[in-house]
Amino acid sequence: MPKNGKPEYSALITAAQSAMSRAYAPYSNFQVGAAILAEDGNIYTGCNVENAAYPVGCCAEASAISAMVINGQTSITAIAVVGAGEQLCTPCGGCRQRIREFAHESTVILVCDSGGLRHQTTLGDLLPLSFGPDNLQR
Ligand SMILES: [Zn+2]
Repeated sequence: MPKNGKPEYSALITAAQSAMSRAYAPYSNFQVGAAILAEDGNIYTGCNVENAAYPVGCCAEASAISAMVINGQTSITAIAVVGAGEQLCTPCGGCRQRIREFAHESTVILVCDSGGLRHQTTLGDLLPLSFGPDNLQR
C-alpha cells in the first residue's frame, strides 16, 4: 500500500486487461475482462463468453465470480472491470447484483476502458439500497 493510504490496484487492472484479451465475443466484438481481489489475497479473473443463442452468453464478472467460488472464496475485496472502447465499462445490472452476493456497499469497483480511462467507485454507488444475503438472514 502506498504512503497516501490508498491501495494500488495496478495488478488487478492488469489482470482484468489480460482476461479481456481472452474474451470470446465474436458477435458483439465487445471484449470485457474482470479481475477480483478476494479475501485470500489472490486474484481471480474472467472474461465474457458469448453464444450464438445470445441470452446464453456470460458476463466477465460472472466468470470471475465462478473462478473465485470454485477456489473456495466468497468475499470480494475489490473488482476491476475492463472493456473495449473509449467509455468506462461499468457492470451491467445483473452483474451488480451478482457482485453484491459476495461484497458489501464499500467494496471497491474499478471500471476502465481499454485506452486507460479509469474510475474508482463502490458497490454502494452502483447498487444503492441493495438486496443481499443479509436480507434473508433471521
Ligand atoms: Zn454483466
